[in-house]
Amino acid sequence: MTSSTADIAIIGGGLAGVSTAYYLARAGVTSVVIERDAVGSHASGHAYGGISAVGVAGMHGPTHELMRRSVRLYRDMAATLPDETGVNFEYRDRSMLTLCFTDEEAEAAKLGIPFQQREKGYTVSWLEGAALSEVEPRVSPDALGAVHVEGTSDLEPQRLTTAIAKGAEMGGARFEQGVVTGLMREGSRVTGVTLADRRIGCGGVVVAMGPWSGAASAWLGFRIAVGPLKGQILRLRAPGPPYRASLGWAGSYAVTKPDGLVWAGTTEEEAGFDETPTMEARASIMADLVKMAPAAADAQVVRQTACLRPLSEDRAPVLGPAPGWEDVHVVTGGGRSGVILSAAMGQVTADLIATGATDMPIEDFDPGRFD
Ligand SMILES: Cc1cc2nc3c(=O)[nH]c(=O)nc-3n(C[C@H](O)[C@H](O)[C@H](O)COP(=O)(O)OP(=O)(O)OC[C@H]3O[C@@H](n4cnc5c(N)ncnc54)[C@H](O)[C@@H]3O)c2cc1C
Repeated sequence: MTSSTADIAIIGGGLAGVSTAYYLARAGVTSVVIERDAVGSHASGHAYGGISAVGVAGMHGPTHELMRRSVRLYRDMAATLPDETGVNFEYRDRSMLTLCFTDEEAEAAKLGIPFQQREKGYTVSWLEGAALSEVEPRVSPDALGAVHVEGTSDLEPQRLTTAIAKGAEMGGARFEQGVVTGLMREGSRVTGVTLADRRIGCGGVVVAMGPWSGAASAWLGFRIAVGPLKGQILRLRAPGPPYRASLGWAGSYAVTKPDGLVWAGTTEEEAGFDETPTMEARASIMADLVKMAPAAADAQVVRQTACLRPLSEDRAPVLGPAPGWEDVHVVTGGGRSGVILSAAMGQVTADLIATGATDMPIEDFDPGRFD
């Protein structure tokens, strides 16, 4: 039984899915977002939320372009979406300090600074001693120095997902709960999606299933090489005033969020689809936090979250039309930068659906490239 119809069925209510729905709504295309659990209940609701387009040497060009676009889109959203939707996603300016504890780390960081300084809209400098303490006095005295990036921002990812979803809904998108189990087709055209208890007819499908996107390989007839990379975050009540900057070292980070808690992460774990917080991760995140800011040793863990980043086999986004289909698109593979990338990936997908074209260079992200 076909219970309802929509122009486009979007499978997955994470940031990639809701961003696509949002930009489709703005283009006048209605969609239904089908989410198995709750909107933003996986990685999109439990990420850190650092926003920056300052790359590092060797960063893949087209991914960097998407990041730059997204940074602009989030700035635009921050100016309007909270008022329009009543959901404040706590977008704010927050500089970043990447700390160095060894001569090798400092040398590598300094080598990258001229490259980073080419990024428009940011100020990048090397700080040490009193200049570093002035930005954040609680940085470890063992730090030899830090790269300071000004012009970066952060936001609260769960609220962001809610705000974009609400913006999409206000523009005509619908949300339904259910697990999509397959597609209906006539030749190369998709005619609907199958759920356990019903079918939803549609003229196009967007696969935005995050780390579970590989499950769509069987429906589409080609391999979507995306899997889970587990990451954990602690939220802590820490002594003293809020950190004045976001601290980073060796892939870990910490910042005081507007909720007054220090959010500290993270881990990169190959743990399949297990989203359980672990004691090992808690210990390693605490160790990195205390290395960056020793006074945090007295902090109390208020909450620990674990979730799964969608990571592709070559670590690049998976974005664009599905080969062999006229009207199916894939938007996933954001990895560790999936919050930053989602706005642009959603806009690209909506543009492809609404106009058949995008102004972004997405050839390298071809969903069929893994076959
Ligand atoms: C600890 C941690 C910190 C992070 N911090 C940052 C950060 O600071 N900056 C940054 O840019 N990125 C960050 N990320 C990465 C970012 O969170 C993810 O890349 C991004 O949220 C992925 O969004 P998504 O919509 O692709 O996937 P998801 O958020 O996983 O959404 C996919 C959705 O699809 C649904 N779904 C799957 N299968 C089906 C089905 N068959 N039927 C219906 N629904 C289905 C799922 O239930 C899920 O809700 C972080 C990630 C982690 C784990």
